[in-house]
Amino acid sequence: MTYFDNYRQRFFIENSPVRGDVVHLTDAFATVISQKDYPKALKALLGEMLVSASLLISTLKIHGKLSIQLQNSDPNAPFRFAMAECDTTGAVRALAGFSAIHDDEQMIWQNAHTAQDAFALLDKGVLFISIHPEHGESYQGIVERVSDDLGECLAHYQKQSAQIPTIIKLATNETTASGLLIQLLPQSDKDKDNDPDLWDRLTMLTATIKKDELTELPAQEILYRLYHEEDVVLPDVNALHFACTCSLQKSQGAIIQLGQDEALQVANAHGGALVLDCGFCGQEYRFGTDDIKQLFA
Ligand SMILES: [Zn+2]
Repeated sequence: MTYFDNYRQRFFIENSPVRGDVVHLTDAFATVISQKDYPKALKALLGEMLVSASLLISTLKIHGKLSIQLQNSDPNAPFRFAMAECDTTGAVRALAGFSAIHDDEQMIWQNAHTAQDAFALLDKGVLFISIHPEHGESYQGIVERVSDDLGECLAHYQKQSAQIPTIIKLATNETTASGLLIQLLPQSDKDKDNDPDLWDRLTMLTATIKKDELTELPAQEILYRLYHEEDVVLPDVNALHFACTCSLQKSQGAIIQLGQDEALQVANAHGGALVLDCGFCGQEYRFGTDDIKQLFA
């Protein structure tokens, strides 16, 4: 088997309607959190959001992209927004908007240590999932904030919106973001008769996973530790990777939206060039006044 540092391992319990995935991200996670000087808690939350997007897209039968977003209603809050996405080719990226300039803001971030702490800072924020199929209409759902644990909120959403009992466990450390999703798809009467306490048993077993086991162990070992008395089937792993969808064309589009006069004003105020930085990957798109005029010619 090929070994990947960033991967999603799907699993099934043989002869049952149970499926799941384990996601493990190392350098893709490192690339995301190195884009800005993110506070520690925000790095952890971005890791959990990346893993969640990678887990959830695997539950869908679409080609396209899934994104998880947190949006604060207060534009002056120290934590403004965060988003993470994964597409069906396994490309992930994420970004957060925050401020840690003023003393009180710095203090808030210094007292935030975990993903939950960062999530709690957005207590008035909205959490939502968007699904963008390549063909067909996009869909957006608001996720109820049942706790400050992102995994619990997303699992609750699966249960409420799709009637599918789901457990999601997430963990990060400095170098790795990982998670596990397990769900009970609709059961036939035969399934229920076969093994009536299957889901209760799996729920209890899944609750025993520790955060450091999730980040430190390979997927196969996590699944073995948890479910070695079950018949676990492991298809080939899917590689995940960091990738950005920004482009010169999209940046040009943004300038056209801004309008010629506004764009030239900004450029003139900044030494004759309007520079668009991509917050996801750091790519710089630079437009001189001649470039701007040409866009509108
Ligand atoms: Zn980019």
